[in-house]
Amino acid sequence: MSHTAAMRLALAQAAAAGERGEVPVGAVVLDPLGEVLAEAGNDREASADPTAHAEVLALRLAARRLGRWRLTGCTLVVTLEPCTMCAGAAVLARVATIVYGAADEKGGAAGSLWDVVRDRRLNHRPEVVMGVLAEESSAILKEFFGTRRIR
Ligand SMILES: [Zn+2]
Repeated sequence: MSHTAAMRLALAQAAAAGERGEVPVGAVVLDPLGEVLAEAGNDREASADPTAHAEVLALRLAARRLGRWRLTGCTLVVTLEPCTMCAGAAVLARVATIVYGAADEKGGAAGSLWDVVRDRRLNHRPEVVMGVLAEESSAILKEFFGTRRIR
């Protein structure tokens, strides 16, 4: 599956999250062959869990499906640039590639505010592909925050 096709699935997860009243962010994990391993949307409100970001949930699901915590060769696809926690989780999971849509100038940790994933001091540094369906990824967030003023 291409990065763009995977991002469309992530966007569907983001939209579903938005409909549940969650900040609309979605994530997909692809296995080394490019097949979908896991999909998740932000679930912070429903689970009352500050760590229930789409990326963390998708990484957990992918690891459970593989039966191992190392997601070597896998790709994390997410609609919004990962925060420090999610960027850290992706590094710990040893994903090969992180693909994201919209940049997050206020809190992004994959190139915008920080670059947690490509810090030269780390042994494992995922490749980063940014800007895949960035406009759609950004629009869904803008629409959400335009209609509600909760953060
Ligand atoms: Zn996060």
